[in-house]
Amino acid sequence: MGTLITTVCESCGYRKDNMALFGGMIGFLDTCMIPYYCESCNTLFEGNMLEDDIFCPECGKDNTFSYEDARTGFKEDKTLFSWFVHKFEREVKLNEEGNLCPKCANFTLKFEDVGNWD
Ligand SMILES: [Zn+2]
Ligand SMILES: [Zn+2]
Repeated sequence: MGTLITTVCESCGYRKDNMALFGGMIGFLDTCMIPYYCESCNTLFEGNMLEDDIFCPECGKDNTFSYEDARTGFKEDKTLFSWFVHKFEREVKLNEEGNLCPKCANFTLKFEDVGNWD
């Protein structure tokens, strides 16, 4: 049970379809996928936030932070998605708009909810 999200940048047209986020019924306790940003190579990818170090699938470095970090434009009061993570006993949140685009570096990236997966 998770959420499928399509990412679109309104300014440069960057697009990444059907990212499967949050948890599944299998692996629900040890998997929570959320969008991450790699500062080394400017890549957006899905990472498992329950792991200690999140490595970029493109360059292999751990110079990464999630889209729940202020550096990606995250603001607490603009939450669109939230997902309770038992391991941390808190909700993970994502903003719908105003996220950092990995291609043009503007805060014009949108996360759109396009369905569920299980
Ligand atoms: Zn990278
Ligand atoms: Zn862009």
